[in-house]
Amino acid sequence: MSQLEIKNLNAGIAGQSILKDFSLSIPKGEVHALMGPNGTGKSTLAKVLAGHEDYEVESGSVLMDGNEILGEEPDAVARAGLFLAFQYPLEIPGVSIANFIRAALQARQDDDEKFDAPAYYRKLYEKMGILQIDKKFSSRSVNEGFSGGEKKRCEILQMSMLEPSYCVMDETDSGLDIDALKVVANGVNLMRGPDRGILVITHYQRLLDYIVPDKVHVMYDGRIVHSGEKELALELEEKGYDWVRDELVTAA
Ligand code: ADP
Ligand code: MG
Ligand code: MG
Repeated sequence: MSQLEIKNLNAGIAGQSILKDFSLSIPKGEVHALMGPNGTGKSTLAKVLAGHEDYEVESGSVLMDGNEILGEEPDAVARAGLFLAFQYPLEIPGVSIANFIRAALQARQDDDEKFDAPAYYRKLYEKMGILQIDKKFSSRSVNEGFSGGEKKRCEILQMSMLEPSYCVMDETDSGLDIDALKVVANGVNLMRGPDRGILVITHYQRLLDYIVPDKVHVMYDGRIVHSGEKELALELEEKGYDWVRDELVTAA
């Protein structure tokens, strides 16, 4: 199956269970949005998918095109074709963006394969052109002293160079100005296509003014409680997350 399939995932941190039988499938060719109030486990999901060592997985499975990735090391997950973009990207002083992306691509090659540097730089500058990023940008150190918008440009550039099969983007967007928001949205819209599945995690509806998702899911207390079309995001914007909680209390 060409999809990222998360099945009955139970996971947590520091002895606290956070993801509770969480299930979600993102087929190639689709963009899904995952929304939900603060503290509901959205970032935990992204970290668990990435193979973050601090998180404890109790049970469940995460299949990428049928292959289990749960329990794999972060670099193995990345090499398998999953790209994760995080709310708080690392600063890597002394490592330029160009060298950082190059290292990530080289890590995916066989040891005896020669890296085609001229082709790499051609492609890098081509992508930078498409993303309207200044050439000088590629020689700056990763995320060091970057504005919110620049961090996002760096992230989208990495994503477009690595050409992953699946992308998971965890967006705070509370701290993002409109420029950064548009960078993310343009990047996602350029990346969407039949060979790629994308999950955009966001607290606010605003980002979805620019990215029109194929499906919207609402997460509450560690699991998905609502799924719908793009209109669901508008409904949430209007009614807020209290509506979801009230409904669950009524149903209980
Ligand atoms: P969201 O992204 O939806 O706001 P998170 O996944 O960040 O939610 O957090 C879910 C829950 O896990 C919260 O109760 C949070 O306090 C807890 N949590 C997250 N990270 C840690 C951590 N490093 N140590 C302990 N608890 C954590
Ligand atoms: Mg949070
Ligand atoms: Mg979060």
